[in-house]
Amino acid sequence: MAVLLTNSVATNGINKTVQMLNQNVSSLDAIESGIRLVESDPEAVWVGYGGHPNLLGTVELDAGIMDGLTLNAGAVGALSGYLHPISVARNVMEKLPHVFLAGNGAAKFAKDCNAESGDNLTMRTCKDWNDWLNNNRNWPDVSLIRLSMLTANNKTAKGTTIFLAQDNDGNFSAGSSSSGWSFKYPGRLGDSPVIGSGIYADNRYGAAACTGMGELTLRSNTARSVILYLKMNMTLKEACYE
Ligand code: ASP
Repeated sequence: MAVLLTNSVATNGINKTVQMLNQNVSSLDAIESGIRLVESDPEAVWVGYGGHPNLLGTVELDAGIMDGLTLNAGAVGALSGYLHPISVARNVMEKLPHVFLAGNGAAKFAKDCNAESGDNLTMRTCKDWNDWLNNNRNWPDVSLIRLSMLTANNKTAKGTTIFLAQDNDGNFSAGSSSSGWSFKYPGRLGDSPVIGSGIYADNRYGAAACTGMGELTLRSNTARSVILYLKMNMTLKEACYE
């Protein structure tokens, strides 16, 4: 029996992913399709189109995908101007000898792949950005360092969609897509696309993904650590607690 686990941000992509898993589609294809739907949802203000911008008003997207059968993985970070970072990440995995591309290089690769381009900033998120700056005074004559410290709280330091699936062939996959912290420092990479921190999948043990303040999971390599503890025969509860 196929299994799907997501977080609450994933609502718009769940039905499609379940349908595909039930039709014996691979977990990689099923989670990519589901995540694309979340990326297109303007109500998901931490993912793709309609995701919150960075401090300078640019939407920079992170996404990663991992195949638990082969341990292949692909990721993009701080990607601007493209609508489906999860598919660009999948292409990194399948077309390049690399795992992770960031910034201008990721955008160049997205163009080489004919990925769908577009402006991810919406009127709503532009207003959210303006309101936040107005509430935090003196914009634009301020240091971004001080402003970025103000984003480190539970109202802005959150938001990602994560999908973990096992298909009818028993193969696990993990995927994530995120605009990262709202109003983050330009160029900031979160944990979501970092293989081992934000996501991990290994058919022999399972799959894991993280949400929340990514700086913590970046320091602890949390997703891979949980899988490693499972490998060391801890129970799931013990592995997650550890
Ligand atoms: N982990 C994400 C980040 O730090 C945010 C989240 O998933 O809540 O960018």
